Amino acid sequence: MIDLRSDTLTLPNQEMLETILRAQLGDDGRVDSEGRGEDLTVNELEDLSAELTGLEMGLLLSSGTLANTTAILTYCKPGDKVLVDEIQHIYKSEKVVFDPVFGQLKPVFYKLNEKGNPDFEDLNRLLEEEDVSLLCIENTHNFSGGAITDLDNLKNIYELAKKHDVPVHMDGARLFNAATGLNVDASEICQYVDSVMFCLSKGLGAPLGSVLCGSKDFILKAKNTRKLLGGNMRQAGIMAAPGIYALKHNIDKLKQDHENAKYLADELKDLKKVSVQKDVDSNIVMIDMQDSNTTPEQFCQMAKDRGLLIRPVLSNQVRLVFYNAITREDTIKTVDIIKDIYKLL
Ligand SMILES: *Cc1c(COP(=O)(O)O)cnc(C)c1O
Repeated sequence: MIDLRSDTLTLPNQEMLETILRAQLGDDGRVDSEGRGEDLTVNELEDLSAELTGLEMGLLLSSGTLANTTAILTYCKPGDKVLVDEIQHIYKSEKVVFDPVFGQLKPVFYKLNEKGNPDFEDLNRLLEEEDVSLLCIENTHNFSGGAITDLDNLKNIYELAKKHDVPVHMDGARLFNAATGLNVDASEICQYVDSVMFCLSKGLGAPLGSVLCGSKDFILKAKNTRKLLGGNMRQAGIMAAPGIYALKHNIDKLKQDHENAKYLADELKDLKKVSVQKDVDSNIVMIDMQDSNTTPEQFCQMAKDRGLLIRPVLSNQVRLVFYNAITREDTIKTVDIIKDIYKLL
């Protein structure tokens, strides 16, 4: 089976797993006057994350959802309005901060443009009209086919938000894919946000963990939010050690995933009955089934019968995600399988 359902399917290699055995461990939930825990491996990961993002401090959490939730609930109180787009992961998949019983925040939706980036004019209008407490952006943007918001756009958005005194949180689950696609350091992206969350557990290949980065003041507050949410951990160095390994060894490898995604999209660009995403920015390719007489579910079943696992997303689309276990050979086979199914549509 070629499994393109998600880049969360990455598995740790032997070398990565061995870092766990050597990790120096302590009680991360027991903090000193500086707000640092006692697990030296967690501290090392948080420091490395701060360095890579160019932000002051990092905070390890067990999942991306918990990292986003912790960040947002640190900025906001129940009833506050938050700018998001309608297919943003925070709103569409996670939901918790907008849940009427839990987070109790109010979403204010801004439009995405054709490229899947925040529509600047719409943001401008909403920031004038609405009293919002936070602006959330997603980079790369998952449900927009891994679309990247570039540095110029990020700068404009950040300056606009600052004009209105609104902080910017970036869901950068795939921050390093964005950096890879733009061929810049992650810190160049993060200079235009107040906080960022990135996942160690996606393309970077660690088994679990996400890091939230921001100013020292913000992260110390977020630490308190994390505790309230039950997110404090003890010898979390066993999670941090593979994360450090991932940041040191796997960022450079993301490029191959992008190349495979682009290769596939290019090979399938002439198909008519389904439309394969034209501009592939990162490791995700969407196939839109709207104009075919097949549902995404049927298409995925036909793929499964031929040895390819893919997933329906949103209403009319199928998502293909590339990651380190997917070789060029797998990519070529995937192209063949999709062409084979296409003949039957
Ligand atoms: C996966 C993902 C998350 C959440 O990460 P989990 O670790 O699965 O909770 C957040 N945002 C985006 C865009 C993601 O793709």
